[in-house]
Amino acid sequence: MDDRTFVIVGAGLAGAKAAETLREEGFEGRVVLIGDEDEQPYERPPLSKEYMRGESEREKTHVHGDGFYDEHKIEFLRGERAKSIDTNASTLTLDGGRTENYDSLLIATGAEPRRLDAVEGGVYLRSLRDADALREQIGSGKHVAIVGAGWIGSEIAASARQMGADVTLIEMAEVPLERVLGRKLGAFYRDVHVSQGVNFLGNSGIDALEGLGADLVLVGIGVAPRIELAELAGLEVDNGIKVDAALRTSAPNVFAAGDVANAWHPLLERQVRVEHWANALNQGPAAARSMLGQDVSYDRVPYFFSDQYDVGMEYSGLADANDEVVIRGDLDGREFIAFWMRDGRVQAGMNVNVWDVTDPIQALIRSKATVDPQRLASTDESLEQIAEDAVAHAA
Ligand code: FAD
Ligand code: NAP
Repeated sequence: MDDRTFVIVGAGLAGAKAAETLREEGFEGRVVLIGDEDEQPYERPPLSKEYMRGESEREKTHVHGDGFYDEHKIEFLRGERAKSIDTNASTLTLDGGRTENYDSLLIATGAEPRRLDAVEGGVYLRSLRDADALREQIGSGKHVAIVGAGWIGSEIAASARQMGADVTLIEMAEVPLERVLGRKLGAFYRDVHVSQGVNFLGNSGIDALEGLGADLVLVGIGVAPRIELAELAGLEVDNGIKVDAALRTSAPNVFAAGDVANAWHPLLERQVRVEHWANALNQGPAAARSMLGQDVSYDRVPYFFSDQYDVGMEYSGLADANDEVVIRGDLDGREFIAFWMRDGRVQAGMNVNVWDVTDPIQALIRSKATVDPQRLASTDESLEQIAEDAVAHAA
């Protein structure tokens, strides 16, 4: 029998998958999973998409089926907030005063919306509870104003239009998603929204709200990592909790994963904090293995997806908005792959309504080989072939 206790703070996707992995890997000690929401662990992507539109059930958001935590002897403390950590004594204290000793601790506290106090009565979307409240308010004939055309703003604009609402989307930059995708691909998304009847106001601040007469103002201006516990405990924090490639924080036996973790990325050769689903899905288990003493080096290519109307996309890599953009396929016909290139090397790729190309795109990024942009742009040759050559060239 193993008498160790592994504690996980944050019962989101990263935390729940870490708990699952500990059991999968045969850990027989105590697993304590602490979550401050009064919900079982759930996934957030449906909250701005099919769940928002009432097209899928609440249960479909759950990370695990009913009974999973009991069956796997995972002590799930639901609706409990961790208040402090003492890294010298290896203890963690909850709001109610309960204290747990840990042999190993994972912090997976995620992120929370940045507030815009200047928007009185503005609403935010992070939790299932937020989504439940929001979907009651969006409906046919309602006028929804959205501040911030990032991922939340863009996806809610699409869902709200699909739910019959009038939508005004307000963004400080010229086009939506400009910081991530740059001007050209941001303009692509602007045109998609405008063609669906969204009133898009670029280069605009919240003064644009004046006179709109909106029934509801949703604010989606980004998130801040939930670092308060880590900061109080004296862990090294810099745009999230700083961890190495094995997801170890600056304190012994304390790990971090998911939206809150700013991890050394061996492939990208810098610290990276990724605020997307696939990162939580994979980093949680990687942290669990690291907690068990396995040799872990988390080097997955960052990946995410987004669905807006009939435009589905997947994005791999990490580009700068200033990188050179190469389009393969039909931009106007909304079926293409965009590549972001720097010094002749592929930094990122986004496939829009083109599927099953994530492997070659990620192989191109991983290879770090120089690739002729004209070869990428032309569809004469398969992407698999170009990626194969790049990998061979790099080897
Ligand atoms: P979280 O999901 O934030 O979970 C952390 C949990 O820890 C929370 O439940 C929090 O309440 C809890 N917690 C925090 N502090 C404490 C404490 N002190 N004590 C106890 N519990 C605590 N990504 C994509 O790639 N594709 C998408 O389409 C997509 N859609 C999204 C749609 C929405 C509406 C939102 C909000 C996000 C979306 N994302 C998407 C991003 C993705 O959901 C996040 O990257 C992911 O949820 C991160 O998981 P996490 O476990 O790290 O953190
Ligand atoms: P986000 O994607 O970071 O976008 C925030 C947007 O708000 C950016 O366009 C930003 O512009 C703008 N902005 C910042 N400050 C502003 C201000 N004061 N006034 C007006 N606009 C301002 O964040 P989000 O859309 O709020 O999403 C929240 C989190 O959920 C993120 O972690 C996101 O990755 C995640 N999410 C992901 C998906 C997906 O992967 N499909 C879907 C939904 C949500 P600048 O960039 O110019 O600052």
